[in-house]
Amino acid sequence: MVLAKDLSHLLSEEAKARRPSPLKTCIKYFNDPNIIFLGGGLPLSDYFPWFDISGTSPKPPFANGIGAPLNEQELINFKIPRDKIDVAVDEEFGTISLDKALQYGFSQGHPQLRNFFIEHNKIIHKMDKYEDHEVLATIGNTWNLESALRCLCDKGDYILVEQYAFSSTLAAAEAQGVKTCPIPMDADGIIPEKLEELLAKWDEKKLGKIKFLILVATGSNPKGLSLPEDRRQKVYELACKYDFIIIEDEPYYFLQTGQYYAAEDRPALSDEKVPHDQFVNGLVKSFLSLDTEGRVLRFDSLSKVMGPNTRIGWISGQKNLLAELLKFHEVSIQSPSGFSQSIVAKTLNEWGQEGFLDWLIGVRKEYTIKRDFCIDSLYKHIPKKLLDDKTVVVNPPIAGMFFTIDINPEAHSEFKSKYEGNAKLFEQHLFEKVIKEGVLMVPGAWFEAKDYTVTDKGGIEEPKKEIFFRGTYAAVGLDKLDQGIERFAKVLESEFS
Ligand code: PMP
Repeated sequence: MVLAKDLSHLLSEEAKARRPSPLKTCIKYFNDPNIIFLGGGLPLSDYFPWFDISGTSPKPPFANGIGAPLNEQELINFKIPRDKIDVAVDEEFGTISLDKALQYGFSQGHPQLRNFFIEHNKIIHKMDKYEDHEVLATIGNTWNLESALRCLCDKGDYILVEQYAFSSTLAAAEAQGVKTCPIPMDADGIIPEKLEELLAKWDEKKLGKIKFLILVATGSNPKGLSLPEDRRQKVYELACKYDFIIIEDEPYYFLQTGQYYAAEDRPALSDEKVPHDQFVNGLVKSFLSLDTEGRVLRFDSLSKVMGPNTRIGWISGQKNLLAELLKFHEVSIQSPSGFSQSIVAKTLNEWGQEGFLDWLIGVRKEYTIKRDFCIDSLYKHIPKKLLDDKTVVVNPPIAGMFFTIDINPEAHSEFKSKYEGNAKLFEQHLFEKVIKEGVLMVPGAWFEAKDYTVTDKGGIEEPKKEIFFRGTYAAVGLDKLDQGIERFAKVLESEFS
């Protein structure tokens, strides 16, 4: 197998200047019995004020669904002791005792957690196209991006983003003085031909080198889209041809709910256990799995599948690039919290890879039910006339936890007179009115990548302006979801009738 390409020319000046923290380089001696370690400020674990942690979690295969009430036999009870010596030999692979978990060290994540992610990656992404892979356990995808921006970009650099991108991604880039260049999207996500057009006209002398493309390829936020595999392949080939990195930010990857069908055509969701190979083979191919050169960084997170404030995620990619990120982590976050690593590693290792897949299958099922309910509810409450004449278009997502509703402002009787034909003014008006009605939906403008000005310089079309609102079916139960959608529909009815 080949080694990943050297991409060190894409590093930021800051990353190039960073030396490994010298104190971190000697931590390896801490566990060497021949060395009396007087080298670092590592408090004795005797002074850690916890003797053990015990926990209870559901036991795979979660036969009645992941939210179902459980009896004793369907639970796993575990205990994490303070001292490594008290860990049973057969549990060592999965237990990070508190003396280790709460101590400095293992900036890349404790082996019990990191190895689980490495094995998981092999199952899901195969990882068979280049040799020198690495995985870093981190504190989630928000941080992962911060780290990538710091290590790859200098002030004034451009990155490529989806035309409608996760607003925190845009905010993080903006705060670091990194410019975002939007790639036009259609109903399937970013359009490779438009990307190629843009790259072919890119004036590197004036605008600098593009460092990376970041996208939420599966269950995008805000649009709920999933980039088809043929587009992924084309985008990957463009990254190789034009020499930039692809960052796939994939917190929603396992929420691949599939196509929405109206209730009368909908195949019944089976209560049978989904075979793991069927689940794995049915997942859209990740960029990581296509990567032959080591130019993909993949961000995974437990936020949407286990709990946002576990603050556990992981970055996968080529070793040399991840070594640069790790150097930055050593002088910033150091590592995810020891408590969190310990509890999550114990749970995951008790479940095993198979159990984790069962959990992911269960989470996907819950979101499929919620997605279907939500879209049914939109079609039930939004006046049929507005749907028929396309004043309002509902976009059923195929992955993730977001849906969007497009609204044609031209259909509003006062669009030209009262709102001066300005779609954004009208969008703001709708936003305020919807809040007054007692529901929060987020205007599309919040996700628009704005600061691209190549139009003048390179003759690339500006992305089209459109109005849409983003909602989620994640945050509330079905009753409240229906009520919220009814309120939103009421505003549409009063505005457009
Ligand atoms: N990326 C995207 C696309 C998201 O939607 C979110 C959460 N809303 C995040 C990253 C943040 O993930 P994490 O909780 O892992 O920081």
